[in-house]
Amino acid sequence: MASCLFCDIVNNKIQSEKLIENDSIIAFEDINPQAPTHILIIPKKHISTINDFNPNDSELIGEMFLVAQKLAKTENINSTGYRTVFNCNEDGGQTVYHIHLHLLGGRKLGWPPG
Ligand code: AMP
Ligand code: ZN
Repeated sequence: MASCLFCDIVNNKIQSEKLIENDSIIAFEDINPQAPTHILIIPKKHISTINDFNPNDSELIGEMFLVAQKLAKTENINSTGYRTVFNCNEDGGQTVYHIHLHLLGGRKLGWPPG
């Protein structure tokens, strides 16, 4: 497989501000935050896009949202509100091809997205 930025973060080849790590997932601060809270939640396993999910990944996907829920609480944005986003491919704005769930909050977020 070609090199992958987020696999390098999983393997500690590239440093990140990790907030949560378990057997299957890590969560770390986005390097270019778009809101006061901007955290990325990623599987340790390499999956390029949402299109590459398979039924065996359903538990992993659920776990990613449970991590988002937990972090929203520790970031104290669970009551004020937040957004979780998976961008997919070019029109979706995906730039890193290792899936990641964005957790954004701490300010009023616009809708529709640009
Ligand atoms: P996306 O555009 O949905 O693919 O999101 C990729 C995200 O990864 C962007 O929000 C970037 O700011 C973020 N990002 C890129 N490189 C790093 C890095 N080394 N550490 C943390 N976040 C990163
Ligand atoms: Zn990867």
